[in-house]
Formats: sequence, structure tokens, C-alpha cells
Amino acid sequence: MGVYGSRDGLWNMPDGVFQKTVRMRCPEMLLKRGVERLKAKGRVMEFVTQRKAIPTDPAWKRRATCHYCGQCMNGCDIDSKYTSANTPIPLAMRTGNLSLFTESTMTRIVLDNVNRRVRGIEYVTSSGQTVSLQCKALVLACSTVETARHLLINNIANSSGQVGKNLTSHFGTDVVAIFPELRSRDASNDDGTDYFHSLLTGLHWDKPHRDFDMTYQVQCGAGLNPKSLAIRDVPGYGSQLKRDLRDLNVCHAVMDMQGSLAPSPRTYVDLDPERKDRHGLPLPRVHLKYGPNDIAMARDMVETCVEIIEAAKGEVYSRPREITADTLGIDYNHWVGTLRMGTDSKHSVVNTVGQSHDVTNLYVGDSSVFAAYPEKNPTLTNIALSWRMSKSLAERAKKGELG
Ligand SMILES: Cc1cc2nc3c(=O)[nH]c(=O)nc-3n(C[C@H](O)[C@H](O)[C@H](O)COP(=O)(O)OP(=O)(O)OC[C@H]3O[C@@H](n4cnc5c(N)ncnc54)[C@H](O)[C@@H]3O)c2cc1C
Ligand code: SF4
Repeated sequence: MGVYGSRDGLWNMPDGVFQKTVRMRCPEMLLKRGVERLKAKGRVMEFVTQRKAIPTDPAWKRRATCHYCGQCMNGCDIDSKYTSANTPIPLAMRTGNLSLFTESTMTRIVLDNVNRRVRGIEYVTSSGQTVSLQCKALVLACSTVETARHLLINNIANSSGQVGKNLTSHFGTDVVAIFPELRSRDASNDDGTDYFHSLLTGLHWDKPHRDFDMTYQVQCGAGLNPKSLAIRDVPGYGSQLKRDLRDLNVCHAVMDMQGSLAPSPRTYVDLDPERKDRHGLPLPRVHLKYGPNDIAMARDMVETCVEIIEAAKGEVYSRPREITADTLGIDYNHWVGTLRMGTDSKHSVVNTVGQSHDVTNLYVGDSSVFAAYPEKNPTLTNIALSWRMSKSLAERAKKGELG
């Protein structure tokens, strides 16, 4: 996979084999100074450089070495950043056992109702042609919302009534710091891998907070971001405006909360009774509600970040005045959990290897199977779960159990 990072020895974030790390930018280093001062007073938290699936060692030849243009979230021009498209899919293609049907959309799952097995699917090509495909086993991996939507549309694998339920994601708010002592620093070397280079972690792992369950982490970013300026609402015009924008942005740091949204019966995916896609299939609706746990967690995040900034001798440039459900933001990129994994078929949709409890040759290999969600990013867990699913499926195929 090719991951860079530093070996921090943290029990809540185990070390791996890392390539050379990418250092924090100056304002992030000052946030770390604040964290170290709070730790010296007995607070439990850590501030570390981020780990990313981006190669930084030119001797590692499997993907191009990063050249620190900072455009990761726009897609990497040189395919340095890990994606399924640039690493596992080409590897699988080389085995000769994978055929890709690109620009094709699955529109129907065809079930053999007598045996409760999937017989195949129908898909629509980019020219609008509907094609049928037979299969021995079907692995759905359309993403958290879409996989649930297709099971609901086809009305299968839902004897538990749990399809679409247990939806969760990350949520949060942010606090912005400025460090006047950095106003005149040279920012010409603010290159890096996107904006966020550091992470506040380890909060409430030793002892749960009295007001909320679970925890959050805080991604921290700084520097003159090549994509956009983090601080824009600056008065004035002309040369003075340019100078003020530069001065503020050069010494700012953003602290961006990533909290675990508590699963709730009021947060789920269902089918829109009216709106349809271009294939005439019902669109999904995402229902989202924040509860007292989420609000208490966000309040703690703001208080903790303000303490860190003050301990680092910085100034709080912006923070939410009060935390209500309206001031929180959901991470639309991190949905998980609509087809919960579990051993009890009454309360879960798939078993521990991603196999449907109801339809024995139907598997789910995406982030919808998460049974719980920590504060951490989802992809590594997602890959580990699909790997376990693939091994089990391959063993069944070898034994001839797929028919
Ligand atoms: C901008 C962005 C940044 C992110 N950054 C990080 C990060 O730093 N770290 C991290 O861990 N996670 C990150 N994530 C989240 C991570 O990408 C997702 O959690 C992960 O991709 C989910 O995997 P999945 O297999 O469930 O779905 P996806 O990766 O979305 O794959 C689903 C695939 O199914 C296809 N599909 C859907 N419906 C159909 C259909 N009917 N027929 C045919 N094909 C279909 C889709 O085109 C897609 O290719 C980020 C996400 C985004 C958008
Ligand atoms: S900074 Fe990001 S986009 Fe730029 S080369 Fe490195 S991985 Fe690719």
C-alpha cells in the first residue's frame, strides 16, 4: 500500500512499516507545544504527524513518489496516492481472472426464489443497453448508501429489517487558531500532502468522558494552502487586503473535529417514494439526526482545542459560539453501517465474513458492513473486512460450495 508516517508508539494507533514521514507545518508544531504543556499538567492526549497511503521513498517502486504538490483531495496527477484503481485493481487484472465492465450500472439483482440464491444481475451500459450476467456468487460493493438502496429496491437479504439502519459517519465542527509570533515567517516551503499534516488523538481512550460515549480525533492543518485560503473574511481591498490575507493565513492553524456519530434509530437510509434515477429506480434518502451524545462530544472538542491554543500562547481566531445540532457538519465522505455485520441473524444483515444471513451466495464487500465506528478514517478497516470476505469466498469456491 505504501504508507508514510512516524512510529509514535501509541496504543490507540499501532505502528506499522512506514516510509519517511512528512513534517508538520510551523503552526501545527505550535499546537503540539500546547498539547505538550497540557500533558505536563496531567492531561491525556497526543499530537502526532498524520499517516497517509502516499509513498515518499523513491526506492519504493510500486507507485510514483509524492512531489508534495498538495492537491491530494483533487485527485493525484501522478497516481502516487493510494486508490483501488491504481493498486489492487491492476494487480487483480494481471492475474487474468478479472474483467472490468466500466461505465456500467447494475440495475437489478436476479434472485432464484426457490433456493434463495442470487442467479445474476442486470446492468445498463453507457449506450443504454440492458445486459444480463449470471453468477455463482455476487459481491455487492456499491458503498454504504448505494448497497443498502439496491437491497431495498430488490427487497432481499432483509429478514432482520436492518437494511438501511445503523447508518453512521463522522461529524464535527472546527476551531481556528492564529499564532502572531509566526506572522513574518517564510511560508514558501509550505509544500506537503494536502492541507492536514497532524492529528490530535488519544482523547478519552483511557477513561470515558462523563457526558458522552466514544471519542473523536482532531485533524489539524496549516499553511498557505495552494487550493484556497483558510481565512478569507478579511476587510479592506488592494495591497493592504493582500498583505492582511497573507499575514493571517501564514500564522493560522485549523483544528477540525472528526467524531463518531452515535448510531440512532433516527439516522438511516430508505427509498424516496417519489424521486427516481434515470433508470427509473427509487433514489435513496438519508435521514440524519444529532443527539445529546454528539452535542456533548462537540462541546468537549471546542473546549479542548481552545485550551490547547491558549497553552501554546496562540489566539482563538474563530470557534462556534454555541454548539447545537444546526452548527454541526456531517462528513458525507465517511458513511458506514447500513448492513450491519453480526452473528445474530435477527439483528444483523451479514455474518462475520460479509455473507448475507438470508441469501447464501450474496456477499457485501464495502463500508456498509461496519457494526461500529471509531473516530478513525474508514478505509483500512474496509479493506481488512473485504479481504477477510474474499478469503472465505475463495475457500468456498475451492470446495465447490458455490455450485
Ligand atoms: C474526498 C474523499 C476523501 C476521503 N478521504 C479518506 C481518507 O483520507 N481516509 C479514509 O480512510 N477514507 C477516506 N474517504 C472515505 C473512503 O473513500 C470511503 O469510505 C470508501 O471509499 C468507501 O468504500 P466503499 O467500497 O464502501 O465505496 P466506494 O469506494 O464509493 O465504491 C463503490 C463503487 O461502486 C460503484 N457503484 C455504485 N453503485 C453501482 C451500481 N449500481 N453499479 C455499478 N457500480 C456501482 C461506484 O461507482 C464506486 O466505484 C474519503 C472519501 C472521499 C470522497
Ligand atoms: S501531494 Fe498528493 S496529489 Fe501531490 S503528488 Fe503527493 S499524493 Fe499526489
